[in-house]
Amino acid sequence: MDSHLVGSGLARIAVVAAIMSLVIENGFVYDPINKVNGEEIDIFVRDGKIVKEVNKRKARVINASGMVVMPGGVDIHTHIAGAEVNTGRLLRPEDHFRDVEIKTSITRSGVGRSIPSTFTTGYRYARMGYTTAITPSMPPLLARHTHEELDDTPIIDKAAFPLLGDSWFVLEYLQDNRIEECAAYVAWILKATKGYAIKLVNPGGLEAWGFGGNVRDIDDQVPHFSITPREIIRGLCKVNELLGLPHSIHVHTNNLGKPGNYMTALETMKCVEDLADGDKPIIHITHCQFSSFKGSDWRTLRSGAEEIARYVNRHDHVSLDLGQVIFTDTTTMTADGPFQYILHQLSGNKWVNGDVETETSAGIVPFRYRRKSYVHATQWSIGLELALLIDDPWRVFLTTDHPNAGPFTSYPRIVSWLMSKEARKRTLNRISKKARSKSPLESIDREYTFNEIAVVTRAGQARILGLKNKGHLGIGGDGDISIYNIDPQEINPSKQFRSIRRSFEKAAYTIKDGEIVVKNGEVVKSLEGRTFWVNPRVSESLMGSVKQIKQRFQDYYTVQFENYPISESHLAFSSPIQVEASV
Ligand SMILES: [Zn+2]
Repeated sequence: MDSHLVGSGLARIAVVAAIMSLVIENGFVYDPINKVNGEEIDIFVRDGKIVKEVNKRKARVINASGMVVMPGGVDIHTHIAGAEVNTGRLLRPEDHFRDVEIKTSITRSGVGRSIPSTFTTGYRYARMGYTTAITPSMPPLLARHTHEELDDTPIIDKAAFPLLGDSWFVLEYLQDNRIEECAAYVAWILKATKGYAIKLVNPGGLEAWGFGGNVRDIDDQVPHFSITPREIIRGLCKVNELLGLPHSIHVHTNNLGKPGNYMTALETMKCVEDLADGDKPIIHITHCQFSSFKGSDWRTLRSGAEEIARYVNRHDHVSLDLGQVIFTDTTTMTADGPFQYILHQLSGNKWVNGDVETETSAGIVPFRYRRKSYVHATQWSIGLELALLIDDPWRVFLTTDHPNAGPFTSYPRIVSWLMSKEARKRTLNRISKKARSKSPLESIDREYTFNEIAVVTRAGQARILGLKNKGHLGIGGDGDISIYNIDPQEINPSKQFRSIRRSFEKAAYTIKDGEIVVKNGEVVKSLEGRTFWVNPRVSESLMGSVKQIKQRFQDYYTVQFENYPISESHLAFSSPIQVEASV
């Protein structure tokens, strides 16, 4: 076993110190946060951090001439660990047979195409130059398992979002307008589960699903509570601001995956408009492609991307990620239990449904997106339309909602679509004729620049997550760097989109905390990534309210209050972020 995988934090620090320093010379650097746009500058790293300079004679030097240098990739939304992912692996042995990673002297073996095992997940991200990935749906009661899998995922840094939009305690606090007590409870949950941000999935709908139902829109009443999805979204948005969390609320909208739902997405963004403080987005709509459907049924489905983009272009309190569809076999998994049930009925594919106490649900269904399907091809178009019609790349991020719309290993293909109208046209020519005739893609000329690619795959994601040392190459930043074998002065991405894709598939170098972990697309070193979590400090008097919940567990619950907290020592490499709440 690789000692770095099991090493303690102390052992790791010793390793970093031994590496000392690194220089990356002559590369074309894209560091949008520091407004570096393809300039040939040298990057220096010492003890895992970007520094102003190092003694070159004592440093390891990488000659990156003729190559692109970017901060390590950051993925804001990818299902890589926890109960639903593991259940998906159990449901789909066929996903594993076809895709095997063989053990090397450095890496461990693994399997899985759309739901790779933990080791394989870490290696595959690192090979593409990614160094941070966030898993977005952690039931609080199953946090221990989620973190155990994250600990088992090598190289990359990670974090997990606890699901809070259907928690009974949250619903109770919010229906009684006890926002501050709700904030104290959320602070406690984040600390107890070592969570990073507030995740809402089909708010209110999962509670209804516990009784076989759903909510119809954001003003529908949640059964057994006097609250609506709108009030849950607004309430948790206020809680988020009171706690001063680094990220905004992270929302999977109601009615996801249903024709006509672009209206629900618009209503969801609008419903917190008045809470915006102009500083930074206060709501993140995740995998927005799945929430941008016009039409009244599958036959009349059309893209609602233009309306969504128009709204986002006029309002800066919103950010979103794509959930870009890839034509392939994959596995859908979400806490949106009722949606997964519909997908099971539509596809006839096998299905697992899960329910976690009084917190959340989940469903998993294998799925194949087909080029010739009108619906799937329209979905493919919608994702790209969002990316191309939203003007500000700092608020729209490249994801596939892995593995829901496709595996994360497809990101380089999406990069090539974004950078090349020709690449889009090639795919358009092969999709359903009806979808092609309705898609506006052919009339959109925009092609992303390298700088914009750096924004939507790392800088923007790090900024919106509030990860201050990620997504940039400024002094004090983490020594997470990717180098791609692309010469921006030689290559024309618009025409040579295949080379672009291949280069982003296999980083020339991936550097993590100042160590070379990937060279020429192969993992050359495996080390342990951090787990970020947020520890909000709330006043003692307010925290007292959380203790009242304890009695309820004793009186009514099959689990105990004490089942929730995970001690920090349980995390292999804990990296808490302290925030001072304003309550
Ligand atoms: Zn998701």
